Amino acid sequence: MHEIKSIPKTQFAWITHQPGKLRLREIDVANPGKGEILIKIEYSGLCHTDIHIIEGDCSMPQGAYPLISGHEGVGRVVKIGDDVHDIEMGDPVGIHILYSCDYCFTKNIASCLKAKFVGVHVGGAHQQYAIAEAKYIARIPKELPLALAAPVMCGGLTSYSALKDLDVLPGQWVAISGAGGGLGHLGVQYAKALGYRVIAVDGGEMKRKVLTRLKDPLLSSFFKFVLSLGADHFIDYKTDDHITQVRNLSTGGVQALIVFSSHASAYEHVFEYLRPRGTVVVAGVPPDGTMQIDVFTYATSAFTTKGILVGTATYLNEALDYVVRGIVKPYYHLLPFSKLPQAIDALKMSKVTGRIVLDLTQEKPVSQARL
Ligand SMILES: [Zn+2]
Ligand SMILES: [Zn+2]
Repeated sequence: MHEIKSIPKTQFAWITHQPGKLRLREIDVANPGKGEILIKIEYSGLCHTDIHIIEGDCSMPQGAYPLISGHEGVGRVVKIGDDVHDIEMGDPVGIHILYSCDYCFTKNIASCLKAKFVGVHVGGAHQQYAIAEAKYIARIPKELPLALAAPVMCGGLTSYSALKDLDVLPGQWVAISGAGGGLGHLGVQYAKALGYRVIAVDGGEMKRKVLTRLKDPLLSSFFKFVLSLGADHFIDYKTDDHITQVRNLSTGGVQALIVFSSHASAYEHVFEYLRPRGTVVVAGVPPDGTMQIDVFTYATSAFTTKGILVGTATYLNEALDYVVRGIVKPYYHLLPFSKLPQAIDALKMSKVTGRIVLDLTQEKPVSQARL
């Protein structure tokens, strides 16, 4: 086993002891077993799904708690277990969100019956040192700053995966709902990179107000922010007649609507955006979200619906490569590791544009209680 000398005996981890009981605790740093590595986490994104896992308001496996959430962890290899090859100490790596069998990992990860989620079945990245199975490691290109890589691990991968498998040709119309959020702002950019015409749908006064307080003139309004990502049009679903506008802009409805929003209201009118033979892609997962349509309209319009569960290792490498080449730019807010509860509150109140990324490089967190 190889290791660096400075690994402490203990570390801080955000532990959800039971649904809604999140605490920062000092725990032992684990030793990597056979086929495993120890990663010193440097940046760790906060996904909306983390909140559902922490609060337990989604379907969770029996015996899931206590758990360590976080599935957008990136850092450096500090200890290597036996039988691990081709990984060097200090390598920049990320942990793939889903462990699966070898076939599904590169071919069709959502179909795997043996899948295990990082941050649910396997300890996640809301801790300073995480163990990972070496074969589920994503190599982060050395020229990519690690903070930029974190939002790609789930947000980028899921949004890229949702767009990559669409039956839509370059030049055709894709609407993206929740366009300013952690997944959506990346989805807009991947959609443009793949050659689609993009209508970004998002909005509401709270986001607009939060954004107008930012100093960057590029971000003086949410409208400008979303267009700066490359969207052809921006529709504010709270103030505009959004369905008519989307249908007019796309001359009769979009070929595909990707819903990244985590609010149930985003699913209320999804089929009305579509032209015949259009597809709704479900990526945002509000626990109380439902879609309704009469079966006659569904059949005669030849609509399709599609669920998205992250993406394969191959797609993750492709999604990272777009960021390396500067074609896609994750937009993130760095918060200290100890501020996870505040980050959760901000995300729940829809105050976040882009992604919140916890910074584990700066401070030694102080133990504190939550809820
Ligand atoms: Zn996620
Ligand atoms: Zn499988």
